[in-house]
Amino acid sequence: MAPDIHTLRRDFPTLAQIVNGHPLVYLDNAATTQKPQPVLDALNHYYRDTNANVHRASHALSAQATQAFEAARIKLQRFINAPTPEQLIWTKGTTEAINLVAYSFGMHHLQAGDEILLSTLEHHANIVPWQQVAAATGAVIRVIPLTPEGDLDLLAAERLLSTRTRLLAVSQVSNALGVVNPVRQLIAMARAVGAVSLVDGAQAMGHLTVDVQALDCDFYAFSGHKMFGPTGIGGLYGRKELLERMPPWQTGGEMVHSVSFEQTSFNRLPFKFEAGTPNIAGAIALGAAVDYLTGLNRMALAQHEHSLLEALITGLEAIPGVRIIGRPDVRVGAVSFVMDEVHPQDLATLLDMQGIALRTGHHCAMPLMQALGLEQGTIRASVAFYNTHEEITALLAGINKAREFF
Ligand code: PMP
Repeated sequence: MAPDIHTLRRDFPTLAQIVNGHPLVYLDNAATTQKPQPVLDALNHYYRDTNANVHRASHALSAQATQAFEAARIKLQRFINAPTPEQLIWTKGTTEAINLVAYSFGMHHLQAGDEILLSTLEHHANIVPWQQVAAATGAVIRVIPLTPEGDLDLLAAERLLSTRTRLLAVSQVSNALGVVNPVRQLIAMARAVGAVSLVDGAQAMGHLTVDVQALDCDFYAFSGHKMFGPTGIGGLYGRKELLERMPPWQTGGEMVHSVSFEQTSFNRLPFKFEAGTPNIAGAIALGAAVDYLTGLNRMALAQHEHSLLEALITGLEAIPGVRIIGRPDVRVGAVSFVMDEVHPQDLATLLDMQGIALRTGHHCAMPLMQALGLEQGTIRASVAFYNTHEEITALLAGINKAREFF
């Protein structure tokens, strides 16, 4: 049965707000999503009723916290179809997950002359850590260019991949344009030359069904706050043989097996990579987000999101002077556009005055904006399943109003 979006929206208290005198139209979901009541309840419940450290003390509350924390890991493991829970490492989010791989795998396994293959569409979080690795090891960064239509150029990727390529790091969905990249194909191409692959799944998890085994990637990074969970929690999936060979990148309590002043032996997976007290409440609440999502008809919601984007694209195409960036047919979540003679920030300010929240600028993808010749960046409207057609109509009306103003 088709979901009733107006009923679903009641699960998200933040959506029912008046902003600048207007009902909030929240179209900045690629930056962060709103949280449903079960996620808020899980956070509250942990701090109010359990609040104990995990894996340590021998008392009831600690056992309860540990049980809920590890149960959440299993929920995430199943959500992305990872083979075992110990292959799911908690991190602060995508950025920390990518840094984990950069520092633990990159710094130790790459050397001068090795190549790291990125794409033009990457978020800074999937560029800068690799630049640090390249600077320290002498590895070289190569970049998959875009075709004139704005897609990743697979023929160029084929030419760039060689036995020198040690790592491919690409996003499944571009945060700046919403474009879905052919990651499965790229991963297979990388594997054929013996390269390891990392997928930045920050923008994929809230929209697509992710299956790390079907993707056949070696690493998959994601953020909880972009999939209706809290900030400060996310994860890294890794192939077991690789994770086992990789040294810890942060050290301290929790990640050790035994410590003396002479030497330390490290804990087993996944704890080897989880130094210090983790974000216990965050992990448990992210588990609640997964329960919430899996309780919904995700296929129907994906279709709803698709129809929102279709309506938005059709509406934008009808506005004189508006140019949509990237191909309209292979995207989820976001639409980026520019408007003749209107600075993105000016448009966003006018829309904000009407309660419409979206994002402008380079979207932490400055190299992409440069490649597209869009130094002022773009205007990005990004949807989640709780957005409505009325909200898209309000955005289009707001843009038309702004056009008259300018
Ligand atoms: N990669 C992509 C594609 C993103 O959209 C983001 C967040 N905007 C990140 C990485 C970084 O995520 P976080 O800030 O949650 O670590």
